[in-house]
Amino acid sequence: MRNLEEIITALKEYDGEEVRIMEVCGTHTAAISENGIPDMLSPKIKLISGPGCPVCVTVTAVIDKLVELAMREDTCVLTFGDLIRVKGTIKSLADAKADGAHVRMVYSPMESIKLAEEDPAHTYVFAAIGFETTTPVYAMLLEEAVKKDLKNLKLLTSLKTMPEVIRWVVTNGGGIDGFIAPGHVAAVTGSGIFEELSKELGIPFVVSGFEGAQLLMTIYALISMKGKTGMKNLYKDVVSYEGNIKAQEVVNKYFEPSDSSWRGMGKIPGSGMTLRKEFSPFDAGSIGLDEDHMPPGCQCANVLVGKLRPYECPLFGKACTPDNAHGACMVSTEGSCYNYFVSGRK
Ligand code: SF4
Repeated sequence: MRNLEEIITALKEYDGEEVRIMEVCGTHTAAISENGIPDMLSPKIKLISGPGCPVCVTVTAVIDKLVELAMREDTCVLTFGDLIRVKGTIKSLADAKADGAHVRMVYSPMESIKLAEEDPAHTYVFAAIGFETTTPVYAMLLEEAVKKDLKNLKLLTSLKTMPEVIRWVVTNGGGIDGFIAPGHVAAVTGSGIFEELSKELGIPFVVSGFEGAQLLMTIYALISMKGKTGMKNLYKDVVSYEGNIKAQEVVNKYFEPSDSSWRGMGKIPGSGMTLRKEFSPFDAGSIGLDEDHMPPGCQCANVLVGKLRPYECPLFGKACTPDNAHGACMVSTEGSCYNYFVSGRK
């Protein structure tokens, strides 16, 4: 591969066929914006944000269920991240909290163990959303809860997995020439799953870290691989071919693959993880949460699958800004609309 300086020049001067590259990780979306990468590319290289922001892809039925639980006298909902600000059908968890519901922000799921132990009169429900990266944390939380025989700690799960949604995007969105494979997810799953996906879909994948230089090398590699199958791992310090076997084992002990509903995509077979039957006493009612009612006019459904750029939504920067977010993609710091807005990305 060329040195970085040559790669920067090549990307700026690229004059071949248009190339459409999708990143499917919210942290990559944020890193691409923070590093000003779109401005370093030829207009013939299009970067498209995919469905990798966990808060953005969570359907309203999940938020509505969390709000309902938080309104109960004997229940407290625990959440971290931006989920608290995403609207359900009527209100967000933050709105519910302002109305007196029991909602608490935590910095780590493991904090919920202490809370549940110290307050047996209340049931603590953790809002367990995320991808392969976060699921091992919830599995470890369950490991601890089982060990301590905690009866008042439960999870409301809306856990997603990457391969099936990538298949969905390729089949239904179309026009993607290469994927920046999600680095954090690959650290758990291993890069091997992206090699298999590449063979199956006929599209190249490059596993990347989050630094600007590595992202540029990744984009350059994907352009060189356009029209071919293949997987390259440029994040070998963190990602192995097999992934984190211990994390995979603890996840498989507590969870099993299931169908899952995604904002803008509906139910995708095998694209989620739910608690195994034997651990159902830890489930706060996660099954059947499929409905999704997006705020009027919000185009998140199209933005999430790369059919629309955030700034093409009529509400972008007008009725919808980070301070007054109308849709989920503007709430989360990993959301496409948020990142396009704060960086002025085009
Ligand atoms: S700009 Fe706001 S309303 Fe438009 S798609 Fe994004 S989040 Fe939804």
